Amino acid sequence: MIAVTDHDTIEGALRAAEHAARWTRLQVVIGEEVSSRDGHIVALFIEKRIRPGMTAAATVHAIHDQGGLAVAVHPFWRTQRRTRSARVHGVGWLAAELEFDAIEVENATPGFYVFNQLARRLNMGLGAAELGGSDAHILDAIGRAYTEFPGKTPKALRAAIEAGTTRAARRRYRALGLMRYAAWGLNHERYIAVV
Ligand SMILES: [Zn+2]
Repeated sequence: MIAVTDHDTIEGALRAAEHAARWTRLQVVIGEEVSSRDGHIVALFIEKRIRPGMTAAATVHAIHDQGGLAVAVHPFWRTQRRTRSARVHGVGWLAAELEFDAIEVENATPGFYVFNQLARRLNMGLGAAELGGSDAHILDAIGRAYTEFPGKTPKALRAAIEAGTTRAARRRYRALGLMRYAAWGLNHERYIAVV
């Protein structure tokens, strides 16, 4: 199974779920990576789009309001709170303060080793469910970080997150995948526009 969590939309996830149900045995969790004012927050098991631009607290609340689970993804990928130019990617220490259901401790973006270590350390104190997410912006990235849990269904994943029995893991990129990621970084805007 896979969770599809595009930035600020669930259209792609809905289409993936529909396609998967018709043609494959893959099960799709509808999700969204919401750009909150304080950093990115992943919503899992949602049915309606969560609007971007709210505070982290309001975003977590909106996710729970529709029965979804809120994940602090790459919480320490950040430099400072939003100024005019600097972007905030992760929610930082808000990951400990707000009612997150899980913390992403393995993010597959190349070069995130330190951010992942910090997230793991944070969660040692918190004891929230740990998640691995590929944060895939290219095909090679899918499944490079992943979440293990007892069972095979979205329902089982949800139960495992709630029970805190998930385990985050990762596997290495192939050299070609890393090269493609580097190319993606250079052509980021164009890649999104073309795809
Ligand atoms: Zn993000």
